[in-house]
Amino acid sequence: MAEPTQSTQEPIAIPEVIGVGEFATRLGLPVTRVIGELMKNGVMATINEQIDFDTAAIIGSELGFEIEAEKAEEDAGRQRTVLAEGEGESRPPIVAVMGHVDHGKTSLLDAIRSSHVAEKEAGGITQHIGAYQIKRGERWITFIDTPGHEAFSALRQHGARMTDVAIIVVAADDGVKPQTKEAIRHAQEAGVQIVVAVNKIDKEGADPVRVRQELSELGLTPEEWGGNTVMVDVSAKAGTNLDRLVDVVLLVADIEDLRARVDGPAEGSIIESHLDAGKGPVATVLVLNGELKTGDYLVAGSTYAKVRSLGDFRGKRISSAHPGMPAVVTGFKAVPSFGDQFKPAENEKAARDAASAVLRREQSKSLGVKKIDASQLTAAISAGNVQELNVVLKADTQGSLESLHESLDQLRNPEVAVKVVSSAVGDISESDIEFAKTAGALMIGFNVTLNSGLKALANRERVQVRLYKVIYELTDDLREALGQMLAPEVIDTVVGELEIKGVFKTTKTNVVCGGTVTSGKIEPKMKLRIKRAGEVMGEGVLAGLQKDKQVTKEAFEGDTCGLNVTTTTPIELGDTLEYYTIETKARSL
Ligand code: GDP
Repeated sequence: MAEPTQSTQEPIAIPEVIGVGEFATRLGLPVTRVIGELMKNGVMATINEQIDFDTAAIIGSELGFEIEAEKAEEDAGRQRTVLAEGEGESRPPIVAVMGHVDHGKTSLLDAIRSSHVAEKEAGGITQHIGAYQIKRGERWITFIDTPGHEAFSALRQHGARMTDVAIIVVAADDGVKPQTKEAIRHAQEAGVQIVVAVNKIDKEGADPVRVRQELSELGLTPEEWGGNTVMVDVSAKAGTNLDRLVDVVLLVADIEDLRARVDGPAEGSIIESHLDAGKGPVATVLVLNGELKTGDYLVAGSTYAKVRSLGDFRGKRISSAHPGMPAVVTGFKAVPSFGDQFKPAENEKAARDAASAVLRREQSKSLGVKKIDASQLTAAISAGNVQELNVVLKADTQGSLESLHESLDQLRNPEVAVKVVSSAVGDISESDIEFAKTAGALMIGFNVTLNSGLKALANRERVQVRLYKVIYELTDDLREALGQMLAPEVIDTVVGELEIKGVFKTTKTNVVCGGTVTSGKIEPKMKLRIKRAGEVMGEGVLAGLQKDKQVTKEAFEGDTCGLNVTTTTPIELGDTLEYYTIETKARSL
């Protein structure tokens, strides 16, 4: 078959990262051909391994193809709709409640919900889906009831703002605490409007004025003192002033003139997700623009959905969701991550392609993708000197995953560390095992299962899978595994010294000499250092030892003896031979 040439071929589009097998398919060549070409260029890769675009471009052109960068499809929809001024319709503000533990965040969210959701409905709400909406007069407000700090850390990771207003809850009987400060900082960094709820004013010892003083010291000065921050005294328990708090939130939100595109395909964020035994992956999404309908295709991070069902925060089935509305979505292929943005896709193929492009990108970030000039890469890693234990994590909930990440992060020292190359919610799948294999990673499941088919696959692929139900068992095991990766401790002990009194014969490899043991004990076969004026000149091994012209097995302090030393360093009169032993000891983390 004739070789293709650049002139007769259309350029071939290649993504940032591509599997060797897929690359061969796109070129229409046998995979062995591609692997062979890679080898010629110094890259050892198997069919399942990933190569980067640059490598693919070089190999492709050597094989006579023109390679071009594939347009990253995901980028097309990535940009959130940006509305021109006055465009779109006003949408409900999205509000998160943050503050120190036990200051009443949950109570406040519950109190607002039960006091503002119509009676007949309130009784029916038993589930928490991560968000709910209330109506005040004619206006809707969306409350996110995932812990506020999670909302903000996701925000930092994903670079998109998920809330418009933060209610900072401070207990009037306890005052400003570390997490209060942290919450304020997060809200300020995110540039969201802040409203302070001074809670528990029903309690004896409540001191709302002191709270205001403490907040003023942090730069949040109450309006009534001439500052810019609205503070409302409330009691979640007694239901005091909740209407006023809600009104203030609306007022503050109006500063932002929140608008949204109401027609067309929906986009927004994932605010809660879990794996349901019956329904599969379930996600609560918050629609930020457009209209979300059943049957829509959505892409969120590295997964996608054909929306099978939509539910509202009351647990009722709905056929569509509008901006500001939280909705429970089923139909995702895998559990999407908290904080991910979702965007529409035209059809199943577009959705799948966009999701796998993200997956490849994520994997290429966490995994050393094979590339030409890999030697530089290796050098960089060994210069950093950190050995990493790759792990692929699967856990039952997002919360578990986050705790695992935190615990694993702590398992490190300057030499070794755990590197999570992939982590997701859900049972271990075939692709997890394949990925663990490619990444040379340990597969870890936390509160998830591994069916027997996959167990067999893992055995075949020699992927180690470990399942845990208790975090500390997992961390103990990994600590041990990391300990084994640590270079053993080398213990160098000086056991004897001898001063050279005469040198009789020096060859290229041996010196015959004599001297007196000045300390300790020496034996044949011992290693020794040749020291001159305190400086080490070279090393050697004691090949033969004689005392009184008799071969001996040992000599002690004060003994004068004849030596045959194997060394390439000439020994001189007056040198000290320092005899030592080397032991290695396993270390632990
Ligand atoms: P969170 O950790 O911030 O979510 O705090 P919680 O909502 O769980 O409340 C912590 C404790 O404070 C619980 O025992 C609540 O019953 C109590 N609490 C919350 N709000 C009030 C309030 O307004 N008044 C009084 N007296 N207790 C409250």
